[in-house]
Amino acid sequence: MKFNKVLEDIQLYEAGKPIELVVREFGIAPEDVVKLASNENPIGTNPIVAETIMRNATRAHLYPDDSMFELKAALASLYDVEAENIIIGAGSDQVLEFISHALLNETSSVLMSRVTFAMYEIYAKQMGAKIVRTPSYAHRVEEFIEAYERHRPKIIYICTPNNPTGDATSKEDVLRIIEAVDADTLIVVDGAYMEYAAAKEAKYAIAPKDLLGYDNVIYLGTFSKAYGLGGMRIGYGIAQKSLIGALHKMRPPFNVTTLSLAAALEASKDRAFVERSIALHQEQIKRYEAFANEHAIRYIDSYTNFITYLFDGEFDSTQIANALLKKGVIIRNLASYGMNAIRITIGTAKQNDTFFKYFKEIMA
Ligand SMILES: *Cc1c(COP(=O)(O)O)cnc(C)c1O
Repeated sequence: MKFNKVLEDIQLYEAGKPIELVVREFGIAPEDVVKLASNENPIGTNPIVAETIMRNATRAHLYPDDSMFELKAALASLYDVEAENIIIGAGSDQVLEFISHALLNETSSVLMSRVTFAMYEIYAKQMGAKIVRTPSYAHRVEEFIEAYERHRPKIIYICTPNNPTGDATSKEDVLRIIEAVDADTLIVVDGAYMEYAAAKEAKYAIAPKDLLGYDNVIYLGTFSKAYGLGGMRIGYGIAQKSLIGALHKMRPPFNVTTLSLAAALEASKDRAFVERSIALHQEQIKRYEAFANEHAIRYIDSYTNFITYLFDGEFDSTQIANALLKKGVIIRNLASYGMNAIRITIGTAKQNDTFFKYFKEIMA
């Protein structure tokens, strides 16, 4: 079978290793596996949301409300925008796919930082578009403007805070990039971890409404991180109505499930859960910073729910990741991003204890 030529250049997305794999390969009991690899919420599923999912189980034979009226209304009120400014996807990942399909072809290019969310590249390559990266992993305004002027990309991705590095771009810098760009280039501001950044430092807080004055900007958010619903696959894009209208043409009907809609609606009303998640995170990430300082490991100051440890010649991230895996601790090796680094999702106190224990053994 001859496939589309664009497929030749696409690398499969490397998902965090599942707990089941570690159980199978290393014979570790599932309850002893510590997964700190996919930036999932360590608190677990919000019990109120779990109950809602159960309550809605008997509606599984019905197609969901394709207008997503209730969830859009809840998001509109949360962000002080209108329902027509919102598109909902099976994860914000799917909104990225709609964007790519709506705007790119084999004559386009897209611009992103050197190390950023892998799906931008994959969706762009599916459309045959060319990938342009700035020299730094951090989003430096001058680098973005220079690359923009040279390549005239159709889409610019600003991931703030950035995955997998954890650093953030200030609202002021994001606006500087937006101001430097023509109306025919779309700027995607991916705020998958925005709740954590906003809680840490005001200058990094970007609300969808801050960007709504621009026709060529879309803000992406997700229920997968601070809201703890990664398994429900719900994310959203917020932008001007005409842009949202165009993206809707790329959306298949019933793209999110009845249970996911109900879960996200319930989650959106429970601000206390998000606050609990952030409080645990802020307390626990301090331990990772202290541990790094104590052992002379460099790390990137994090505005997300994970931390990135950087290794110099002394350690090899692939060896460390494999050694941890054998102990039942799953973290993310960043070697495939060209970094000798690991990304660790901040877990519960107990999960973090386990990480520190085995990590110390491995370093020794
Ligand atoms: C997790 C993540 C997303 C989206 O996740 P979904 O589960 O698809 O909503 C988007 N962007 C970044 C940078 C992420 O880390």
